[in-house]
Amino acid sequence: MKIKKIKDLFIGSNNHGKVREIKQLLPKYINVHSTIDYKLRSPKENGKTFLQNSYIKSKYFSKKTGKICLADDSGLEIDVLNKKPGIFSARWGGKKNNFNLAIKKVFKELDKVDKNWRKKKIKARFVCALTIYGPNLKRVYSIGIVEGRISNKKIGNNGFGYDPIFIPKGKKVTFGQMKFKNKFKIDHRAKAFRKIRKFL
Ligand code: IMP
Repeated sequence: MKIKKIKDLFIGSNNHGKVREIKQLLPKYINVHSTIDYKLRSPKENGKTFLQNSYIKSKYFSKKTGKICLADDSGLEIDVLNKKPGIFSARWGGKKNNFNLAIKKVFKELDKVDKNWRKKKIKARFVCALTIYGPNLKRVYSIGIVEGRISNKKIGNNGFGYDPIFIPKGKKVTFGQMKFKNKFKIDHRAKAFRKIRKFL
């Protein structure tokens, strides 16, 4: 199914870092609107998976605005924490989405399961689920994953969220140390976008 010439697209996210990254991944001819401009609150994310939550968000914002909406639900899964924070990645940052707090919580939870975790390879991955939903459209979705490990300390000021503690597979630096353009070549969001681009 081809969505014909989308000129206006609503991005259903109140996360500034995410909206900035999504804008860069979209074709330039698309006029991008976001919840930040419209001052819309996000819906309750009560799905059990990234995909369910991205569907909840895209449907909710599309109904609110009458526009075609693209929503992303993403997060970090850490194997020794039974894939936590997972769909709770944003919520680990508290009401104000404080990423420092979220990272502290990751380190605290790792300390609880293994005091020596800093000397080990802590396998993790970022997952991104995208859903496009809109009037007269069938739902379109995609998933992107990037495997990696948790850094034993927070390094780098680029990106957002858990970027300063995630080292992608095959690299020696965190996403927080990478330039935008290099993170985009390999990250979960870009992979999900590559799959969904053909529908735009
Ligand atoms: P969501 O808005 O509920 O999908 O929240 C996703 C959360 O996962 C964000 O607030 C970040 O904490 C984290 N996250 C998702 N993608 C990334 C990324 O590319 N880098 C760093 N953290 C991310």
